[in-house]
Amino acid sequence: MAEKYKLSGRGNHPEDSIFDISGRKIGGGNFAVIAGPCSVETEPQILSIARDVKNAGASFLRGGAFKPRTSPYAFSGLGLDGLDLLKIARAKTDLPIVTEIMSIDYLEQFANDVDIIQIGARNMQNYDLLHAVGRLGKPVLLKRGLSSTIDELLLAAEHIMASGTEEVILCERGIRTFETATRNTLDLSAVPVIKALSHLPVIVDPSHGTGYWNLVEPMALAAAACGADGLIIEVHNHPEAALCDGEQSVTPGVFKNIVRKVNIVRDAIANA
Ligand code: PEP
Ligand code: MN
Repeated sequence: MAEKYKLSGRGNHPEDSIFDISGRKIGGGNFAVIAGPCSVETEPQILSIARDVKNAGASFLRGGAFKPRTSPYAFSGLGLDGLDLLKIARAKTDLPIVTEIMSIDYLEQFANDVDIIQIGARNMQNYDLLHAVGRLGKPVLLKRGLSSTIDELLLAAEHIMASGTEEVILCERGIRTFETATRNTLDLSAVPVIKALSHLPVIVDPSHGTGYWNLVEPMALAAAACGADGLIIEVHNHPEAALCDGEQSVTPGVFKNIVRKVNIVRDAIANA
């Protein structure tokens, strides 16, 4: 039978992909921790968080400059000024940057300035955006759509790869279910399911996956235990004052403890 996932599937590529992105490895046993605020807000904010997450063991800095918000009246990011602040944070900490692209209007800036281009859940099936970003050939972090199946996620990755990009990282970030106790239902079974089908690295976002900061640690540990290749975690130095997603943001101190425990879980499994 012809391979449905021609480029992302294991049929034509049985071994795990390992990507070396700006000197940081992910996949095939290399675990990447991406951390930072939901949104870039000010220079002191992003610099302080960048330094803290680096000290705690993060390998990439995240931060939204262009934010897809449900309400048009909510803070929607600093735009290109936010990208400039991320570049300052990268220069000062040496952490590569991960940030979301929403529009093809900014392809050139993202191509020049961003280490991993994030495609958010809301744009997972925005095929023109997938093709345009795919043509850049830069590493992409593709988040699972709010109500998308694993098949749809893998086919979205195919769109990016068929356009010319090899380095696609998949992200389970929770899906819509009838449950209201959490913001989304984090589908951790997606990790082993995707890994059986695909050679691409799979990371987990326990922040959007649950919506509550106190649920981030248990789900991060569970993600490490079920074979994820990394985590993306929202960290804020003043979560109560965050302009976006404060409820699900952990403090740098909590984040440090999460990274410590994740490493213990990974060691335990490697030695089991
Ligand atoms: C984010 O990472 O801040 C974000 C908006 O995520 P998602 O696209 O998964 O909702
Ligand atoms: Mn967020």
